[in-house]
Amino acid sequence: MASAALTDFRNEPYTDFSQPANRRAMEDALRQVRSQFGHEYQIRIGGEFFATGDKLESVNPSHPAEIVGVHHRATPALARSAVEAAWNYFQEWSRVPAGARTAMAFEAARILRRRKLEFDAWLVYEAGKSWAEAEADVCEAIDFCEYYAREMTRRAGPQPVVQLPGERGKLFYIPLGVGVVIPPWNFPLAILAGMTVAALVAGNTVVLKPSSETPTIGAKFAEVIVEAGFPQRAFTLLAGSGAAVGDTLVAHPLTRFISFTGSREVGLHINELAAKTQPGQIWIKRVVAEMGGKDAIVVDSDADLDLAVDGVLASAFGYQGQKCSACSRAIVDAKVYDAVLEKLAAKVRNITVGPADDPANYMGPVISHGARKSIQAYIEAGKKEGRLISGDRPVPGDGYFLPPTIFADVDARARIFQEEIFGPVLAVAKARDFEHALELANDSEYGLTGAVFSRDAEHLRQAAERFHVGNLYFNRKCTGAMVGAHPFGGFNMSGTDSKAGGPDYMLLFLQAKAVAEKIL
Ligand code: NAD
Repeated sequence: MASAALTDFRNEPYTDFSQPANRRAMEDALRQVRSQFGHEYQIRIGGEFFATGDKLESVNPSHPAEIVGVHHRATPALARSAVEAAWNYFQEWSRVPAGARTAMAFEAARILRRRKLEFDAWLVYEAGKSWAEAEADVCEAIDFCEYYAREMTRRAGPQPVVQLPGERGKLFYIPLGVGVVIPPWNFPLAILAGMTVAALVAGNTVVLKPSSETPTIGAKFAEVIVEAGFPQRAFTLLAGSGAAVGDTLVAHPLTRFISFTGSREVGLHINELAAKTQPGQIWIKRVVAEMGGKDAIVVDSDADLDLAVDGVLASAFGYQGQKCSACSRAIVDAKVYDAVLEKLAAKVRNITVGPADDPANYMGPVISHGARKSIQAYIEAGKKEGRLISGDRPVPGDGYFLPPTIFADVDARARIFQEEIFGPVLAVAKARDFEHALELANDSEYGLTGAVFSRDAEHLRQAAERFHVGNLYFNRKCTGAMVGAHPFGGFNMSGTDSKAGGPDYMLLFLQAKAVAEKIL
């Protein structure tokens, strides 16, 4: 175990599905997982299981009549007892040496690696991810376990402080307490695993509430956590809607911190509720909130236009545009505007849409009926706000499918230019010049990701200085951040400026204690 911590971090390699053997293995995994459809999952609190009888069904968005998992919904009373049970075990867990905790995180990575294709298949069926997107999600989960275990190793033990004459000084990190972990459905394994493992490996106890769209993946990850050796009492899994138990978890006076990833609306609500001191509460709650985006790609007049268009399409339509990092605004210099539109319109026709378990489809369904309705409302608004250049062909099938949709000539004040749609809808705007393009890119309350396609070194320098996003990319797509290489998180309404998969992240789950001893 200890030697694993000493090797350098490396990103998990992706399975190559163009290899026939890998394709066959994935087909087997899909069959295996399908045979477990409809299984019932109970709530796990401190190692005990609870059935409330109030059941939530998660469905396959490619074929919504198929029930992937049936989950007992938590009640506010169970949510309260989960926080209390986590608090009762915190004193014991927080004293487990960091080396033992990091060994468990490395073990979780090993188990995920062993069960990789099985998890890929759960993601295909419950989240509607294509094979490649599912594989990237599972690899990222493995990366988070490996990376945070190493980062915790670095933070364990005394940290350097100035030594005053006649004194022995020390500074070391201790955990915070009970953490409520609330992930979204769009990276139902990677984000859930990253937030959970970071909190646990730091010595906190965790109450995890997965998204009600993807609770089966949460339940499967709970199996990994327990098999990896994390004590059952350190970890609680509560299925159910955020609206029903979220406020109870966040407001509980024994909750010490909330680690949230999701929409701006829910993030702001949690931040406000957590700031209100409850009777009996003796700390200020810490909120880590990673929220939405309205990410832009700027195409400069001297850009390699094919590279730029491929980057825009991959960023806008990979996983149906349901990534916080997805490109939903392309801002194109007037000199190449028509040429870019022509290439976008031609290349978007190659994008295939259909059931996610068929690897011939680049795009699968959006997550739910509700999501499709909300995206369709934006498409209707877009018809008044821009010129539709792609998206008018309906997609056959019973799944929640939508075609890749592109609007040209969109004004900066348009709703489809300003609001996060979270679906396969791209707004294209014309910029007078590079200066104007940067102005348009920054005309957003969000600040998550962005990209610039340009060969002009001075323009790239200006963008690095002034394009105000947490993750900026040059001459590549604005999605696909890699753990360790692209620490991830945004500015402004995109969150609390944290960086998942980066060297500062573990500090969000720790507090520093300084001890000074007079030398007698
Ligand atoms: P959401 O805000 O609807 O839900 C996120 C989580 O919050 C879910 O588990 C949900 O059940 C829970 N929740 C809902 N109401 C709650 C309440 N009152 N109290 C506590 N919890 C509550 O978001 P979503 O639809 O699951 O995910 C999509 C959003 O997530 C998009 O806005 C996307 O940009 C964002 N996102 C951001 C990042 C990032 O790193 N910045 C990454 C992925 C997704």
